[in-house]
Amino acid sequence: MVRRCLIPLVLALALAWGQEPAPAPAPTVPPVAPVGPSPAPAAVTPPAPAVEPSSTVQDDATRVSILGYHDFSESLPETAMRIRTSKFRKQMEAIKQLGLTVISLDDYLAWKRGEKSLPERCVLLTLDDGWKSVYTDAFPVLKEFGYPFSLYLYKNYVDGGGKALSTVMIQEMIKSGASIGSHSVTHPFPGDVKSRVKKGADALDAYLRSEMGESQRFLESKFNRKVNTYAYPGGFHLEEMFKLADEFKYVSLFTVIPGKVKRSTPDKTTPRYMILGNYDKVFEMATSFRDGGAAPGSGVVGVPASTPVPVSPQAGEVVNSRLPLISVDLVTIADLDPATLVMKVAGFGEVPALFDPASKRLSWRVNRKLRQSSCQVSVSWKDTHGKPPEIPLRWSFSIDKDAAYLPEDAQ
Ligand SMILES: [Zn+2]
Repeated sequence: MVRRCLIPLVLALALAWGQEPAPAPAPTVPPVAPVGPSPAPAAVTPPAPAVEPSSTVQDDATRVSILGYHDFSESLPETAMRIRTSKFRKQMEAIKQLGLTVISLDDYLAWKRGEKSLPERCVLLTLDDGWKSVYTDAFPVLKEFGYPFSLYLYKNYVDGGGKALSTVMIQEMIKSGASIGSHSVTHPFPGDVKSRVKKGADALDAYLRSEMGESQRFLESKFNRKVNTYAYPGGFHLEEMFKLADEFKYVSLFTVIPGKVKRSTPDKTTPRYMILGNYDKVFEMATSFRDGGAAPGSGVVGVPASTPVPVSPQAGEVVNSRLPLISVDLVTIADLDPATLVMKVAGFGEVPALFDPASKRLSWRVNRKLRQSSCQVSVSWKDTHGKPPEIPLRWSFSIDKDAAYLPEDAQ
């Protein structure tokens, strides 16, 4: 069964956005995460992000960028989750040209444990879900470059027929050095998980135990390989999963929050860049180590996020006004139903943003001085068929603290 996963997260990092666009037979409304700490009403209230303590392992100069891919095709249209095979090849070439070292999962884990040193700029390649095109399209490219990679498989899609990888294909890739990790049993939506949350702790535990434990047992016995890493479907995670991760001895669990990994980066919420087939900026950020490494000791991992459509102020931008104009350029959105547009701003909830049909721009002027040093915005819509965008639009920008002292008319 192919499941769609399009999962907003409430991020511990104000500047992050995460999504895992995924196999999608049925249009499903993704839950809209409330932005920031505001009490703004939202369709679904995700649980608070669980916080885990940092590792005690000493940091070194190494930064690892974990890249996440899904589906590949040379002929089908590019989407967030499906990248053109030739573009993927160009990206692998770029990694080589940039002098980045592609490491294996084993090397990554050994480095994380403090048992191995790595070059300063490393890349770990992960491929989620188990699409057949991983074997037909990506694998030949990865072999050509000699890059190790890891497959994150969910039990119900292995041998799923059609577009799914078969056991034989997976075995062949493992023989060539691929690692495997768990991506659950059913690839649940956040809504699926949340419905279990409502049924109580026991129901939730049984459910998560199956998703995380049964998938591990299945993969280990089928492929005779140790499975001790987990990619949260859609990046969605709950604190309850952390305890089970310990129980099942998962040592690294991957989110979809972009950012570079340091040795001290907490292992249960490992950042990962989901590389989008129709938006090259994420790959550029993932392979840029200038801004993404975070200053040593800053405790900050991650880079300013980017957005799938132009926004203003831009993601990560620092503005000097506490009353900025927030706008989104939606000209590239096909079949947009303007009546469904909703803008939410942290601290304000849903705001009366105006849509200009001529320019296809949605905008709203902040009408009460922003007091926080950062401001989170989300914009949602549906197309004329009632389908929400594949990529939820969320971003945040920062407010220059000095600007907070300027008189109102100076802004
Ligand atoms: Zn997935």
